[in-house]
Amino acid sequence: MARVYNFSAGPSCLPEEVLRECAAEMMDYQGTGQSVMEMSHRSKAYEPIIADAEAMVRKLMNVPDNYKVLFVQGGGSTQFAMVAENLGIKHKKAAYIETGVWAKKAAAEAKKLGIAVDVIASSKDKNYSYIPRVEKITGDYDYAYICLNNTIMGTHYEYIPETGDIPLVADISSCVLSEPLDVSKFGLLFAGAQKNLAPAGVTLVIVREDLIPEPADCLPGTPTMLAYKTHADNGSMYNTPPCYTIYVLGKVLHWIEKNGGAQGMADLNNAKAKLLYDYLDRSDFYHATAEKGSRSLMNVPFLTKFSTAETAAAAKKDEADRTDAEKAALAKEKEMNDKFVKEAQAAGLVNLKGHRLVGGMRASIYNAMTIDGVKTLIDFMDKFATENK
Ligand SMILES: *Cc1c(COP(=O)(O)O)cnc(C)c1O
Repeated sequence: MARVYNFSAGPSCLPEEVLRECAAEMMDYQGTGQSVMEMSHRSKAYEPIIADAEAMVRKLMNVPDNYKVLFVQGGGSTQFAMVAENLGIKHKKAAYIETGVWAKKAAAEAKKLGIAVDVIASSKDKNYSYIPRVEKITGDYDYAYICLNNTIMGTHYEYIPETGDIPLVADISSCVLSEPLDVSKFGLLFAGAQKNLAPAGVTLVIVREDLIPEPADCLPGTPTMLAYKTHADNGSMYNTPPCYTIYVLGKVLHWIEKNGGAQGMADLNNAKAKLLYDYLDRSDFYHATAEKGSRSLMNVPFLTKFSTAETAAAAKKDEADRTDAEKAALAKEKEMNDKFVKEAQAAGLVNLKGHRLVGGMRASIYNAMTIDGVKTLIDFMDKFATENK
């Protein structure tokens, strides 16, 4: 069995130790004669699994007692609506910082639900390659919204905006438990699990209790399943939860604890990211797209020297308007990117194709990616650069 180094942005690699444990327990979970996949969520065997997962989130993230920890479905994308429906109820007005696709989608969803969305800052001017600095947010907003780690653009907040009494909401899908985070600075945090915590299927929500409205006080028409109260009042078991995903999530959390908790992950992630960014910054063949001071520890988009300001400009033009020189440059760029991804795959380094909005390559180096994986990637990159100068 040959395992690859998987740099997928999500669903993404899981710790091998966790996968082995799941395999060992697949046919008979702790003498029950069943797989966790097959169990009733109301059974004596399952109850401790979800209770432990919640307790581990509380422990590892140091969640204050006045916050609920919820496991819901619908992914990060459903939270875009749920946040607006539950929190945008007084002034029907919210502040959003626009840092790329996920923040834009969240704002669009709020708008659709009738929330007056103020985009108070944006990094659109430079293709979202940096995080705007917003020290303080004030105004009659029901909440302020940020995407803490921008999976596609490879950017990350190195500060947390001051919002006073305005609840701060953060999408932490691609950076949850990658480093310590002061939960008390936020009104609500959410994370689709498939980036850093578990397989797809569950979304972690951490929300301050006083921000959870009665279902009747949510925006008109809010479905039962989209009221946080529904899940908070029922221990995330109002309906059938994604049982197996929560079970794997619990195992990943124990793996994180064994490896030093949030700080242990931060040490590991900083070491991995430093190796990769240092290499990119030294290279005359590759360059990172995210600006220093805004760089993600988790998602590292990079281009080759064949991606230039000229190819970026030419790519924006209609095909018919491109000069022959531009067409040739674009073809060369594409050839190099395709070649990189193909040869990397053959070398056991998979899912390195960049997102189309950034181009080039992207290495997602979540908690479960090992230092060895990053070193192997850098060795490959170096060899490729030498061969294709
Ligand atoms: C992947 C991702 C999402 C979307 O998550 P789904 O679970 O696919 O809906 C939202 N926000 C961020 C930051 C992401 O990385």
